[in-house]
Amino acid sequence: MTFGKIFFRHPLISMRFSVRKIYNFELVEEATREIFFNVTHPLNRWFMYLLFFLSLFYLMYVFYLRLKLWGFNLKQKKDFAALFDSLFTQRKLLEKAKTGLPHLGIYLGFIILTITTTTVFIHYDFGWEIYKGILYVVLTVLSDFFGLFVIIFCCQFIFRRYFLQEESLISKPQDLVLTAGLAILCIQGFILEGLRVAITGDPWKYYSTIGYLVGLPFEGFSVQGLKNFHFINWWVHTVSVFVFFALLPYTKAFHLVAAPLNLLFRQNSNSDKKYLNLLESFETGKINKVGYQNVNDLEAKHRLDLDACTSCGRCQEVCPAFATGKPLSPKWLILALKQSLYKQYTEKKHSFLQKLDCFLVETLTLGVPERLVNSNEALIRAVRLNGKSAILGDIFDDDFFWSCTTCNACVEACPVGIDHVDHIREVRRFATTMEGKPPKEAFQTLRVLQDSGLSQVSSVSKSEFFKTLGVRVLNPGDKVDYLLWVGCISCGDRRKEKILEALVKIFKYVGLDFGVLGDREACSGDPAKQLGDEATRQMLVAKNIETLKTVQFTTLVTHCPHCAYAFSVDYRLFDSEFRVKVLHHSQLIYYLVESGRLKLSSGNQTVSIHDPCYLARYLGISEEPRSVLVRIGDLKEPKRSRKKTFCCGAGGGQYFYDLKIGERVNINRSKELNELKPDVVITMCPFCNQMISDGKSLISANFEVKDLAEAVAESLPS
Ligand code: SF4
Ligand code: SF4
Repeated sequence: MTFGKIFFRHPLISMRFSVRKIYNFELVEEATREIFFNVTHPLNRWFMYLLFFLSLFYLMYVFYLRLKLWGFNLKQKKDFAALFDSLFTQRKLLEKAKTGLPHLGIYLGFIILTITTTTVFIHYDFGWEIYKGILYVVLTVLSDFFGLFVIIFCCQFIFRRYFLQEESLISKPQDLVLTAGLAILCIQGFILEGLRVAITGDPWKYYSTIGYLVGLPFEGFSVQGLKNFHFINWWVHTVSVFVFFALLPYTKAFHLVAAPLNLLFRQNSNSDKKYLNLLESFETGKINKVGYQNVNDLEAKHRLDLDACTSCGRCQEVCPAFATGKPLSPKWLILALKQSLYKQYTEKKHSFLQKLDCFLVETLTLGVPERLVNSNEALIRAVRLNGKSAILGDIFDDDFFWSCTTCNACVEACPVGIDHVDHIREVRRFATTMEGKPPKEAFQTLRVLQDSGLSQVSSVSKSEFFKTLGVRVLNPGDKVDYLLWVGCISCGDRRKEKILEALVKIFKYVGLDFGVLGDREACSGDPAKQLGDEATRQMLVAKNIETLKTVQFTTLVTHCPHCAYAFSVDYRLFDSEFRVKVLHHSQLIYYLVESGRLKLSSGNQTVSIHDPCYLARYLGISEEPRSVLVRIGDLKEPKRSRKKTFCCGAGGGQYFYDLKIGERVNINRSKELNELKPDVVITMCPFCNQMISDGKSLISANFEVKDLAEAVAESLPS
């Protein structure tokens, strides 16, 4: 029978039908189907259940082994909001429709097929006759269509991975087995449904439209022949499902378990907490190592991260280091660490069942990297070396880790809650604090930080600078409304001093009661944190907390997002009583404008905006500066903005060292900003201001670079 005949025989297509009659609306309460059709002999069922429980037992056993491998403590802090957001809205995944929609289709298909199977199980084995009437009709229609979606979307995945070979995706053989296997399982299901319909002439067949269409070519064959074919197919399908089930932990599908867990425990990925009171802990022997030397050191959440990764490549796509040709890729970081962790796991002595697990790990996970077309050197090294190999030096080269700007774009993009930056910081901590091996140029910065408490030597006294501006320099016991936190890179640099002067002008214009700590202010500790020098960082944090306690103020204002983040988040970890209200200057300016205290005259220049990573991504502040900017110019948005901003290249301590590999990140960003042909690019961070100014000069662009404070100060009515 030709496809045309089959197609046009369907009543829906030929229009030779009455909808009410075809779908038996009057009798819909009776709709159901025979369960275990054609496999009614009890031995079939008992054997099926035996296989089911064996595969379930093995799956649960491997899950138990993984929990042990992760070293998980289920009592850890849980984030149910992140879990529900991901499970129910799929928001992160849908940000990228090309992959998000297919994933949603497969995800819903999986849920619906699971609900249908469970309903059948309850109906048959518990004798609660629920698989009938409206529920039967709804589940049949949904299973039919979502089964089809799963097939279509699996084919799309295969096409992207194996035919288009998209660079961000890794195409492991077991991924092909997984996606093709899923599609084949659904096709088998449709064949079984089609055979059942063809044999029984099911009165409810039109509710399973796809199954019915698949069954049409079987019409006319002998019933016994069809039954034999159905029987064989049923067993092939049943065994395939259970094998698929048991092999789940060795395929990407394990993210069905690991990803929700990772999202649930995502808040435990803050290694800062581990090193509270570092010096004391060292002396008492409470800790004897800082950071990660090898995968043995990975904490539970970071181990779980490795299994949650689906190698989707979203982190790599947004990484400024990767985009500019540096050796770093957050995706390969996670995948190579996973290889190393499992390598170490298989090297241990195990019981019989664990040996089977190790065999499958070795075959399906560790054996794969060298066969990948677009494999990565670190991945191959992780497999070739033993599990005790050093992360930095043996598996990855130094430049891999020091390329990171800690911009957090990867963390923001990852749909399964992986914190790549925390892994990177831990490796850097070991390199610097334990081994004394930061990048060469950063040595000088760390030495200055240790000696002077500032990240760079300045010939200018902060106290003197502010005194000449007529700003109060606070002494112990003084009281003020706003404490202006200056940070350590603006004083002594004439370009950045202008930002401070603009801020002072605004504060004076609205008559704020404010002051500065002057030379008593030390670096917030952020550069030491990013460069892995935990001891120096803690020394600076302790010093600043003590200094801040000497004066009274209601709000701390800073023009540096790194300082703002340190005071809003980091300092609170070190001192639970540290509850200072912190505002970034863009927020304060916004409040002053909104309250009418700051009136701005509008200009006719086009302005574009560069969102600092630590402001827009870490602190979530991006609307306030925009609300101000639209009053003073014509705002043009760059493609990568707000939470999706692109780093200026200074983060992660890179302001203090230069890798000289690939394109400079600030050039990449400046080119993007220049595409908008703005008169002015607005920055809100002294580091960004420097980097974008340099980038603009290097590409000979015509735009001016101004801090938000400067643009606002210039717009004050005279
Ligand atoms: S780390 Fe996250 S974003 Fe990156 S490949 Fe893995 S799942 Fe995708
Ligand atoms: S933090 Fe930024 S630079 Fe570092 S790995 Fe992630 S995306 Fe790349």
